[in-house]
Amino acid sequence: MTTISNNLQGVRGRMVTACTRASRPSHSVVLLAVSKTWGPQAVREAFAAGQTRFGENYIQEAVAKITALQDLPLEWHCIGPIQSNKTALVATHFDWVHSVDRFKIAQRLNDQRPIDLPPLNVCLQVNVDGGENKSGVPPAETLALAIQVAALPRLCLRGLMVIPEPAADYAGQLAVCAQAKALFDEIVAAAVPGAPHFDTLSMGMTTDLEAAVAAGSTMVRVGTAIFGVR
Ligand SMILES: *Cc1c(COP(=O)(O)O)cnc(C)c1O
Repeated sequence: MTTISNNLQGVRGRMVTACTRASRPSHSVVLLAVSKTWGPQAVREAFAAGQTRFGENYIQEAVAKITALQDLPLEWHCIGPIQSNKTALVATHFDWVHSVDRFKIAQRLNDQRPIDLPPLNVCLQVNVDGGENKSGVPPAETLALAIQVAALPRLCLRGLMVIPEPAADYAGQLAVCAQAKALFDEIVAAAVPGAPHFDTLSMGMTTDLEAAVAAGSTMVRVGTAIFGVR
């Protein structure tokens, strides 16, 4: 077995253990492999080990990789910051975007989504712990943005994404993840018109995936534990 395949097995094991501890079914959390900075060959190795969802931060790097891997049935997720001048590339090449934090970007993605592709799946990035200089919509403005984005026909609003500040310990990780889950539940309860598929809480990375799963994450984004240190 390759290192990547071994690592993937380890991460899946961590996810199953975390689900069991939280009394959640193991299929209730999916794994997004974050392949930023790694080349197409690393992605091929992960695919050979059963991984089909991949996350990328840097648009240009991602587009080159997506193009080089067109022979594989992969699902590509944009998880990095998006400038206005990159929305066309994102709308054309990705299946999901986790990092929408303002309406202007959502509108451009909507307008630029090619008509022969299904609607682009979108999560709103929330600045859940209020870190300064951080991207993400403030929690108090998230529902209003969700209502606006859900009305865009070429986007499919799927949920929320958070990148909490590193916490000192598990209890600290759990506390901020629980805040994100509470906000997610609020928006689910609001039953936003046009968002019948709001089912995704994208939360948890290499160092906090256990806390994220305990708090209710439905998708963890893991890079280092799969591909190694960048
Ligand atoms: C890089 C990155 C990850 C993966 O982080 P690891 O600590 O390597 O698992 C997850 N989410 C986002 C938004 C990232 O930028």
